[in-house]
Amino acid sequence: MSSTIPFIHQLTAAQEAAWLDALRKAAPTLRICRLADLTQPQRDAARVAIVANPDPADLADLPNLCWVQSLWAGVERLLQAVPQKNLAIVRLIDPQLGDTMAEAVLAWTLYLHRDMPRFASQQRRAIWAQHALPLASDRTIGVLGLGHLGAKAAQRLTANGFNVLGWNRSAKQVTQIETLSGPDGLNSIAARSDIIVVLLPSTPQTRGLLGKDIMAHIKPGAAFINFARADIIDNAALLAALNDGRASHAVLDVHHTEPLPQNDAAWDHPNLTILPHIAAPTHMPSAARVVAANLTGFFANGTIPMAVSRDTGY
Ligand code: NAP
Repeated sequence: MSSTIPFIHQLTAAQEAAWLDALRKAAPTLRICRLADLTQPQRDAARVAIVANPDPADLADLPNLCWVQSLWAGVERLLQAVPQKNLAIVRLIDPQLGDTMAEAVLAWTLYLHRDMPRFASQQRRAIWAQHALPLASDRTIGVLGLGHLGAKAAQRLTANGFNVLGWNRSAKQVTQIETLSGPDGLNSIAARSDIIVVLLPSTPQTRGLLGKDIMAHIKPGAAFINFARADIIDNAALLAALNDGRASHAVLDVHHTEPLPQNDAAWDHPNLTILPHIAAPTHMPSAARVVAANLTGFFANGTIPMAVSRDTGY
């Protein structure tokens, strides 16, 4: 028999209502409620909570909690909000998110491959100019991080004719993709890739990973796509590489401050494409189904899905 499951978040009222509706549809036998609607005995009995950027004080109010199910894939903020080592953090692993991210990686890789920023700029100045068109098979794309999102994205790129290199912490085999690891592997990918796609988690090991040293190794004219977290790329190093022509362009979906402030110079940089964190939005119905399956499994047999590692930070 399940206890009442609190939904703890800092969403708007409309977002809360939409999530509660999707979660209750996906898990009609479970009682999922706003935290404010739980009685004290229900709070005491709660062993699992559904969270989306929770206020740590709200979690502290649930003395018997053993795990939280996040609605998001990234966990760096949640790890800070939930320092209790005995509280397992389960992040969202939704195959639909992988498909959506793979589509985004393909879309923005094609945007760079087909020189769309250059043609958009030409149009603004009424310039009719044609340029040589390399084949997809002439391009090498380096995908950093071959996890649930990166591996699918890498495969989508090979299916569209690109050469793909992958960089990962542990050795990983992905069909048709040469995978490398370690600092030498990263330098090699930097030197060989026309486009570098970042799909790493933000951890103490990856923050600032793409800094001055890597920028010194990149293939001349290389471009970047950051769909992971802003702090993985050192902004100053990226801007220096863009401004002196070593790098050609960067598509940035993630930013140090979100929303990106209106007065941020990045909006006007000719070699930056700024996206408002839209590469792979959570698809509510499929995410709710994943969450429902995790919760149902827990109440049926006590299984807590694989939790985030506090050692590696992802
Ligand atoms: P994941 O399944 O945890 O995969 C992370 C991958 O990165 C793993 O393959 C891991 O290697 C590798 N990795 C971790 N640390 C590394 C290091 N120091 N050096 C080399 N490789 C390392 O994560 P995911 O679900 O693919 O998500 C990736 C990130 O995407 C999330 O953390 C989130 O920040 C971001 N995201 C963005 C959006 C958006 O809309 N922009 C949406 C969803 C997610 P191992 O295989 O050895 O563990």
